[in-house]
Amino acid sequence: MKTQIPTPDEFQEMREALRSLCGNYDAKYWQEVDAARGYPEAFVDALTGAGWLAAMIPTEYGGSGLGLTEASVVMEEINFSGGNSGAVHGQMYNMGTLLRHGSPEQKQQYLPSIASGKLRLQSMAVTEPTTGTDTTQLKTTAVKKGDRYVVNGQKVWISRIQHSDLMILLARTTPLSDVRKKSEGMSIFIVDLKQAIGQGMTVRPIMNMVNHETNEVFFDNLEIPVENLIGTEGQGFKYILDGLNAERTLIAAECLGDAYWFVNKARLYANERVVFNRPIGQNQGVQFPIADAYIETEAANLMRFKSCALFDAGKPCGGEANMAKYLAAKASWEAANVCLQTHGGFGFAHEYDVERKFRETRLYQVAPISTNLIYSYVAEHLLGLPRSF
Ligand SMILES: Cc1cc2nc3c(=O)[nH]c(=O)nc-3n(C[C@H](O)[C@H](O)[C@H](O)COP(=O)(O)OP(=O)(O)OC[C@H]3O[C@@H](n4cnc5c(N)ncnc54)[C@H](O)[C@@H]3O)c2cc1C
Repeated sequence: MKTQIPTPDEFQEMREALRSLCGNYDAKYWQEVDAARGYPEAFVDALTGAGWLAAMIPTEYGGSGLGLTEASVVMEEINFSGGNSGAVHGQMYNMGTLLRHGSPEQKQQYLPSIASGKLRLQSMAVTEPTTGTDTTQLKTTAVKKGDRYVVNGQKVWISRIQHSDLMILLARTTPLSDVRKKSEGMSIFIVDLKQAIGQGMTVRPIMNMVNHETNEVFFDNLEIPVENLIGTEGQGFKYILDGLNAERTLIAAECLGDAYWFVNKARLYANERVVFNRPIGQNQGVQFPIADAYIETEAANLMRFKSCALFDAGKPCGGEANMAKYLAAKASWEAANVCLQTHGGFGFAHEYDVERKFRETRLYQVAPISTNLIYSYVAEHLLGLPRSF
């Protein structure tokens, strides 16, 4: 078949290089990592070694100085190859927080090592068990005592800690009762995980539906040096929000990689599987849902590139980033269902890889932002409807 999915675009050269690298990590590799609940170390090392994870780090710090557009192609291609960028995406957006709000000393200290792969900044700790999406109510506190902040509290669903050297932590530095606005009084810190774990920080893995390393975290008088505060004390929530547009757009690109993977897998199978003496794809009941999934994916892709272009031009893109994430996550989930249905019983067999990708792409409806919260953003910020919380 000549048809190419996704349709070739101006990033073809970059896509070919990524496909060549990702091609070394085939379905069997990802299935084995999934079955072992392991971390794709060899893949992450190769991706880092080739410089792809440093795409957005400026050249002065050893990165490639590329934009969100190119970074999104990296994420898309990982998932389109059958891989799972959930193992690595954190670094792409976490380092943006450091880049935008870190001091010159912090940037010099960390960014070149992150670019070279010596250090991994894969983790960001925001979510808490008792407050969930209502982030401003978080209960973890960081109290300044001399040249240290002393941290107490609890986080949940904090990913990639066991495969990271550094973590960005959001904690309350001024009690909620003492701030004018609930979004004030929180701060972000860069935590050296090797020093913190066992010294006031305890990590408990959470077994979950996908092979996604994620954890409960407990802080009991963890001491963080004051020089690890990023930016100005009390402005941390704003800094986290600043990074969300990049995060949402990159996640949209991952969903698109999945969606194209599902559409491609479904059309290939529908062409080759013969039942009732003809390929199942000859039945419109089978081919229309695949066509529908492709149309939805292509449409979502346009919003992803719109969001990337605005971000790279330094223009506001909150609406586009949220809508891209919404559309792409919807497209990938619908394509996943279609692909599974097209495969009939074989869709459930590990060997076909559909069930693994199906589980992986379901996560995007909930994390890093749930669909309802995107509706809420669009309703309030784009359509001027009253705030509901
Ligand atoms: C595998 C995994 C990895 C993750 N990794 C990280 C990580 O690395 N770092 C991190 O900080 N967090 C991480 N998270 C957390 C993730 O961001 C949250 O799970 C997500 O934001 C939803 O929060 P919650 O689970 O507390 O749901 P809740 O806030 O309890 O919400 C539950 C449901 O109710 C809905 N809901 C809640 N309030 C409203 C409302 N006002 N209106 C309408 N609907 C509402 C939500 O949309 C959701 O569907 C991860 C989660 C998972 C599952």
